[in-house]
Amino acid sequence: MAPPPKKGPLFAPYYWSGWVDTPSCDCLKEEKFAYKYEWMVVQMVSNTARALCTTVRVVSAIATAGITEAFVHKKDLTHECVVVWYKCNKCDHKFAIQYETDNADDGRFMYFGHFENHLKIREFGEINYHYDFVQKCFGKMWGNYKLFGHNCYHWAKDFSCKLRLADSDAYVYGYNG
Ligand SMILES: [Zn+2]
Repeated sequence: MAPPPKKGPLFAPYYWSGWVDTPSCDCLKEEKFAYKYEWMVVQMVSNTARALCTTVRVVSAIATAGITEAFVHKKDLTHECVVVWYKCNKCDHKFAIQYETDNADDGRFMYFGHFENHLKIREFGEINYHYDFVQKCFGKMWGNYKLFGHNCYHWAKDFSCKLRLADSDAYVYGYNG
């Protein structure tokens, strides 16, 4: 998976919220454990655009700029994702993986890193899972994004649910949400 772009168009969270790369060490994955997850909300447009978010101007900007609906969540023009923090028991290296969705075919993504800035944390928890358990949870996530009713908010909630309950089959919305 290629790293996310550092800069982008109007509705690009990586541009507006910054990005921090956190590569993993080269130790065996059996040495790596997840110790914390954070469900976060990030900005993906400028403050000016946020102020306009309920107006026709933003709607028409989406249309005229050909920007996909992918990153538009609700009406506040934010993006949501889940960041899981890992520690290697062999070398003590710490790193994060960010998990999220958008409207691509099978819209599930994971990146070694995390947004630099966020607006708020909706939920977080201390956990103690094997690296593979988190990837199993991710593997069972849905990828059929829809702007309304089945978007990055619902996805982050479902992924957080699996992590909170330590159950890769747990969910609130699921594929048909
Ligand atoms: Zn290591």
